[in-house]
Amino acid sequence: MSTIALIAHDEKKAALVDFCRRHLDRLRPLDLIATGTTGSRIAEATGLNVRRMLSGPVGGDAQIAALVATAQVAGVIFLVDPLSAHPHDPDIQGLLRVCNVHNVPVATNLATAELIIEAVSSGA
Ligand code: PGA
Repeated sequence: MSTIALIAHDEKKAALVDFCRRHLDRLRPLDLIATGTTGSRIAEATGLNVRRMLSGPVGGDAQIAALVATAQVAGVIFLVDPLSAHPHDPDIQGLLRVCNVHNVPVATNLATAELIIEAVSSGA
């Protein structure tokens, strides 16, 4: 079963919840992991079963990066807020870096998130 990581910065969490609502049927059969607060918001709003890591600022992005580096994640949807500073920017950059090192699809905005969910759910 494909594992997909879901992460959103605070200003983007509502957009990610909305994305999950729109793609419930595609997401339900997948193994979903998320950073702490993002995972709670998605689970509460959609009833999806989400494995929650730590919150991003205290290591959740780094935990997901470790799973990407060990080939346990098929794709990452990480809706970043490009207009705010984040104390855990090194972890954010680290996660994006390991996705690029290991050629794991990573979407940082809704347009590419749509492409990833399409590809993953069609088995591409
Ligand atoms: P959060 O982490 O889901 O725990 O808010 C996301 C992040 O800011 O990396």
